[in-house]
Amino acid sequence: MKFNTKTIHGGQGHDKAYGAVMPPIYQTSTYAQSTPGGHKGFEYSRTHNPTRQALEKSFASIENGNYGLAFASGLAAIDAVLKLLNPGDEVISTNDLYGGSYRLFTKVYEKFGIKFHFIGMENAGNIEQYITAKTKLIWVETPTNPMMNIIDIKACSDIAKKHSVLLAVDNTFATPYLQQPLDLGADIVMHSATKYLGGHSDVIMGALVVNDKDLAERLSFIQNASGAVPGPQDSFLVLRGIKTLHVRMQRHCENGEVIANYLNGHPKIEKVYWPGFTSHPNHNIAKTQMKDFGGMVSFVTKGNNYDEAIKIVEKLKVFTLAESLGGVESLAGHPASMTHASIPKEEREKTGVVDSLIRLSVGIEDVDDLISDLKQAIG
Ligand SMILES: *Cc1c(COP(=O)(O)O)cnc(C)c1O
Repeated sequence: MKFNTKTIHGGQGHDKAYGAVMPPIYQTSTYAQSTPGGHKGFEYSRTHNPTRQALEKSFASIENGNYGLAFASGLAAIDAVLKLLNPGDEVISTNDLYGGSYRLFTKVYEKFGIKFHFIGMENAGNIEQYITAKTKLIWVETPTNPMMNIIDIKACSDIAKKHSVLLAVDNTFATPYLQQPLDLGADIVMHSATKYLGGHSDVIMGALVVNDKDLAERLSFIQNASGAVPGPQDSFLVLRGIKTLHVRMQRHCENGEVIANYLNGHPKIEKVYWPGFTSHPNHNIAKTQMKDFGGMVSFVTKGNNYDEAIKIVEKLKVFTLAESLGGVESLAGHPASMTHASIPKEEREKTGVVDSLIRLSVGIEDVDDLISDLKQAIG
């Protein structure tokens, strides 16, 4: 089955009871048993639920994996991966990382004796010098947020395999439409399904997909033991979202390209971050491991003025000023005052998050309206 068919049918069958074409929302916590232990495969909805199971099969199918697991949020999915570790273990992570992941690593897991190294991975060769006998996990995000750095997943996987370390890839920005990390050698793919997979900014959800049976069993044990599972209603919404993932992504990419090029030629813009430019430092890796370049575009204005950037995001009318990304509607964010406000100025500027940086999640509206909106806001 090809990807554009998997988004609609992957792992899915018609409902066994009445032939419903869409998976029913099994809004139940428990299941009748005929005799103790005599049930139809479902006992309690923290452990299994038919609607969630349909979604988990869809996750596995679109990521070319054997096992999918759904979580109550992207961070709950990351939390489950970290629970594979023991005190004393070390993790090597991308430095330009989703803020919530950074917070979970440093504010929650360091306390339990896990050590994190945050490093630039644009040159994957950098990773090896941080590997010790204690290293158990390499955590990669590509493209990164908000600087759109590209990391070579295959090169990371070669290093991980050489040292018997797990490689996990946060595939939220790219989605399996653009890249499939398991095929490139990753052990775990993670998603904030809140973003492109759900696609309509109406649900919080996380996902993990793996190929290895033992790893799937350990994660499934943690999923049930810790209990951060999504409900059937939210599972249904994400399943519905995934059915149009490929058509939405195609338009996100088309609109993203037009906007990146428009901004790049604008006299008031200093720099545009988008992996589709041949001048992007890792454009060749992006071209090899991704099908297209995605709908996320960041830019910096000339003079790097904080107040001017705030004025631009306030003036936008079709783009909504909001956190998050990946929905059908276009969003704009100002990392220095929003997602990265808690990081000291000198720290955030080291990774490129300067005062005038604006991040766009380009939606699937008519691109002419998006360009007009940027034109009136930037001037
Ligand atoms: C949003 C996001 C997360 C966290 O997911 P939630 O669903 O908000 O918990 C993790 N990684 C990336 C790249 C994200 O954009």
